[in-house]
Amino acid sequence: MNLSVKILISLILAIIAGLIAGAENLPWIKLWIAPIGTMFINLIKMMIVPVVMASIIVGAASLGDTRKLGRIGVKVMAFYLITTAIAMIIGLGVAGVVHPGDGISIAAEAAKTDVKAAPTIMEVIVNMVPANPLKAMTNVDMLPIIVFSLIIGIGITHVGQKALPLQNVFEALAEVSYKIITLIMELAPYGVFALLLPVVAANGPKVLLPLLSVIIAAFVASIIHAVITYASVIQVVGKMSPIKFFKGMAEAMMIAFTTCSSAGTLPVNMKNCQEKLGVSKEVSSFVLPLGATINMDGTAIYMSVCTLFIANVYGVDLTAAQMLIVVLTGTLASIGTAGVPGAGMIMLAMVLQAVNLPLEGIALVAGIDRVLDMCRTTLNITGDAAAAVVINKTEENK
Ligand code: ASP
Repeated sequence: MNLSVKILISLILAIIAGLIAGAENLPWIKLWIAPIGTMFINLIKMMIVPVVMASIIVGAASLGDTRKLGRIGVKVMAFYLITTAIAMIIGLGVAGVVHPGDGISIAAEAAKTDVKAAPTIMEVIVNMVPANPLKAMTNVDMLPIIVFSLIIGIGITHVGQKALPLQNVFEALAEVSYKIITLIMELAPYGVFALLLPVVAANGPKVLLPLLSVIIAAFVASIIHAVITYASVIQVVGKMSPIKFFKGMAEAMMIAFTTCSSAGTLPVNMKNCQEKLGVSKEVSSFVLPLGATINMDGTAIYMSVCTLFIANVYGVDLTAAQMLIVVLTGTLASIGTAGVPGAGMIMLAMVLQAVNLPLEGIALVAGIDRVLDMCRTTLNITGDAAAAVVINKTEENK
């Protein structure tokens, strides 16, 4: 049986088992089953820094000149920004139709959550240049790691012959990392089951039903973005059948769905893009780590849906100008969102603040954040892969 089918079966089994077990069995599940999921996700996380560093260094070193890197960089940034803005608009459109939050009273639901301050744009930019790359590695800070690796790769190109041994070391590290990821993925059916079971048991229908309209709006908007925006660029520019694309992405999408982490899914996404979608190492090793860090279309949809939901619950009508502010700040906020579970919820504060909505509104959606996160992370990594396929095509024969 093929691996994605196995993972899918274990996903379905986990949902059924979780619904049957319910919250009363949660302590037991957390004690005995959840740790298996944690071990699986740790195995994948273990590979993030080696695979990203090795493949970016090798990629940058083998490009030979920085012009190509610059060209790919401009294309990928344009792709990421435009698709994220489209995602924001689709999210607003769907939420405008679904009207999430109709009939919800604030007083009954509002609880306090700690809303941490979102970093400013300048902070994000300054932090891209690491004074201490080892620190960036230990914290798995993707952007500084990417910048550091690019610089090493460029350094290797400039030194030439003498730096060859170093380049070979990273090439070997990249190969070994890919192999290990393939081996780890054999365990995915078990890992996915153990990760998902506690989530379903804790968030049974009782937690989900009151906010079903938010979940539906986010879900529908994500599907629209995937089957219209991605499918059409993949078909038209990437010259690939969207069916092949989504089939090839199945494993990575399911891992994203269960782990809620773009960064955590990165090793699997790189493997899928290279092996199943034929994206070159050169393109995937640059486009995907960058995307896992800054390109979050699912998070953008989440932000627009939640902003309209919170406005609706508090009885605020957003003007057209405010909607535009939501699109702009939402796009920026999604870029600043880290590829880890729950990060998008913190960045939502930035959007709410921009249109003067009460930050306490976040508490309303905090209870279902895990479920929303599964949906947004899946779309986040799919968008990165779509960019890789499209840019790979435009770089062919160059
Ligand atoms: N969990 C998401 C991701 O890793 C980020 C978010 O919370 O929106 O892509």
